[in-house]
Amino acid sequence: MQRTLILLKPDSVQRRLMGRIISRFEDKGLSFVGMKLMQVTPELAKQHYAEHVEKAWYPTLESFITGGPIVAAVLEGLEAITVVRDMLGATSGLKAAPGTIRGDFSSSRQMNLVHGSDGPEAAEREIALYFTPEELVDHTPTIATWMRAADE
Ligand code: ADP
Ligand code: MG
Repeated sequence: MQRTLILLKPDSVQRRLMGRIISRFEDKGLSFVGMKLMQVTPELAKQHYAEHVEKAWYPTLESFITGGPIVAAVLEGLEAITVVRDMLGATSGLKAAPGTIRGDFSSSRQMNLVHGSDGPEAAEREIALYFTPEELVDHTPTIATWMRAADE
């Protein structure tokens, strides 16, 4: 089992797409083990996007991500990090394949609706940025035995 951080960025909240996006992850069989509505501060944005802070476009990314409430969530599942990234599609909604969340709902390289951790180290770091251990709820879904074989 693997955990990954997702953010429903401010465009998801403003465009009333939260429910439809959450449904996609539920439909896939991923489990929500943490979730909250919150406002990203400039300080948190700089920590989260540390790899991009020096880029020319970072100020516009910070304005965007701090521009309205987001939903932060931790998803759990087999290979959850890759599964979620594949569900998001390419960074730009203009390039993302149809059938992906960004491909279906976004026409922007910045306003691409959802963040997903891009690897195990990023997931661990990002989950700790947004959640305390007490905010994550360990549980085994009662339908788990109908979601995958016992040896998977
Ligand atoms: P991803 O979210 O797919 O991992 P990146 O790590 O490259 O993408 O970029 C982080 C976020 O910054 C993107 O999701 C997008 O919102 C924004 N972004 C990426 N490239 C640009 C750009 N050229 N101009 C403005 N914003 C961008
Ligand atoms: Mg990235």
